[in-house]
Order: sequence, then C-alpha cells, then structure tokens
Amino acid sequence: MLPVVLVSAAVLLAACGGDGSSSSTTASGDGPKVVATTTIAGDLVRNVAGDRAQVTTILPVNADPHDYEPRPSDAQAVADADLIVRSGGEVDAWLADVVSSAGSDATQLDLIDDVTTRKGGDDHEEEHADGEGIDPHWWQNPQNAIAAVEATRAALVKADPGGAATYDANAKAYTEQLTAMDTAIAACMDDIPASQRKLVTNHDAFGYFADRYDIELVGTVIPSLSTQSQASAGEVTDLVKTIQAEGVKTIYAENTVNPKLERAIADRSGATVGPQLWSDSLGPKGSTGATYLDMLRFNAGTLADGFTGRKGVCTLPTA
Ligand SMILES: [Zn+2]
Repeated sequence: MLPVVLVSAAVLLAACGGDGSSSSTTASGDGPKVVATTTIAGDLVRNVAGDRAQVTTILPVNADPHDYEPRPSDAQAVADADLIVRSGGEVDAWLADVVSSAGSDATQLDLIDDVTTRKGGDDHEEEHADGEGIDPHWWQNPQNAIAAVEATRAALVKADPGGAATYDANAKAYTEQLTAMDTAIAACMDDIPASQRKLVTNHDAFGYFADRYDIELVGTVIPSLSTQSQASAGEVTDLVKTIQAEGVKTIYAENTVNPKLERAIADRSGATVGPQLWSDSLGPKGSTGATYLDMLRFNAGTLADGFTGRKGVCTLPTA
C-alpha cells in the first residue's frame, strides 16, 4: 500500500519542516536517507551528514520523547530510510513498533550503545527491550555526544562509502566544537565552589551532566528517569525540606514538561524557579536551544548563574 503514497508524503514532510509541529527533513542529492528519533540525535546526525545525506527527525521540537505517540508519517519515513538512528533506552522505545509497522530492514544505530559513560542497568542486553533501569539521558555529557558522532560517522560511511571524505571532515569539525564547549563548561564549573553546585530539576534528566561537571543532584520534582511518573505528597514534602536544608536557591523546569509542580515546590521552599533547561528536546530555530551546542551553552550558563547568584558566570564558545 505504501509505494504510491511515499512521494507525496516526502513532499509533505519537506513542506512541513521547521514549523515545530512536524518532523523536519533536510534534503540533499544522492546520499542515503537517514531517520533519527529525537531532536538531539537528529542534530548530531545532521552535523555529520552535512549536505550529503537526507536526515529526517521524527520528534518535533519541544516534544517529550518519553511521551511520544508515533504518527503514520513516521512509519513512511522509516520505510524509506537506509539508516535509522536511535537515541536508545526508554526515550525512544516506541521506535520498535514504527519499524515493524513500516516493515523496515534498514540498519539501526543505537547511540546509547556507543556512549562512553552509561548510568544504571549493568545488564544492558537484558534491559534492552524497554530500556528500563538505564538512564537514557546520555546527551547531557558532551563526551558521550562525541562518541555518538563517531558511531554516526562510521555508520554513514558504511551506508555510503563514496561519502567517506565528507563524513570524516564533518565529524572532525563538529567534534572540535563539542570538545571546546565541554572544556569551557568544565573550566567554568571548576571555578564555582563545590558547596554551591547543587541541582534540583524536574525529572532525573541531568545525571550525566552532574557526573561530568561534578554537580551534586540534590533532588528531582519527578523522582524518576522518565517524565511518565508522579511524585507522592510525601516525596514533595521531603524535597521541600531538602531544598531548605541544602540551601538551594533556584530550582529548574525543563522545556518538555509542565512547570506547575516546580512553582508549588518553590512557593513552599522559598526557592525560585529558574529558566527552563533544555532537557530531552531541542527548541525551535532561533531559541536558546535550537541546536545541541546551543542547549549545552544555555544549560551550563544558566546553571552557573543560578549556583552563584551572579550573571554571565561562564564564558562559553559561541556559534
Ligand atoms: Zn527525560
């Protein structure tokens, strides 16, 4: 049933791209067709692919990947793909159904398998089906993104050997940018006294960031690795007490989650709600989280300002 529809679906996807309500596709010539699940995976892949491959990202910006309901157009994009790139773990476990309904036998790259640090879930194979127990938010450590870029480069070269020189050069240039950002964030955080580096976020999305930059995770509003969970009244009361005991001044909302509970907890604890962090999704074009590098820059700068109570604490690479 699919073939006749595919051309018009591709045109539709291209026409809808970038409005924030639909998946986005960057077009190109003869290169392979790549589908990425999350906006962050899509951005990493796009930086390696450049103009050589056509990259379609399934999730729209600002959408919560934990809560995503695949659409028929996703199956069409997957059916047409030469390479499928997953973020991995619980955030895009829904992809399995899309792949089977698309009847796709495209190569699948699971980026979480290549990251250098992985939190939770010692027996990855056993947990693989739904990713439960593994912290899927690996992208919050840029060193993991560097590893994901290398895995993506290798997969693209395999899918399209003629493009090897392009993918190698793109990956090298992008890795240099990621390394520079990571180094600058580490230097900035290192200058902040450890007693001030205490973080309260919405859900448990910043464990990798906290590990990388030596930040103490004091608590989360949703005490879970997923957003699809709720805090009990007792847990909320405990968090309020912890915030007061630890002297946390700012707690953070996230761009993919409703900040209602943060506001209530801030009211009760005397903390303020800081700017929304970019957690599980990039934002629209022109936002402070339009790209993965933008996300890192904004999150790190915002947190450093919140920890210290000053403005513009971090000097981080731009563009
Ligand atoms: Zn999450």
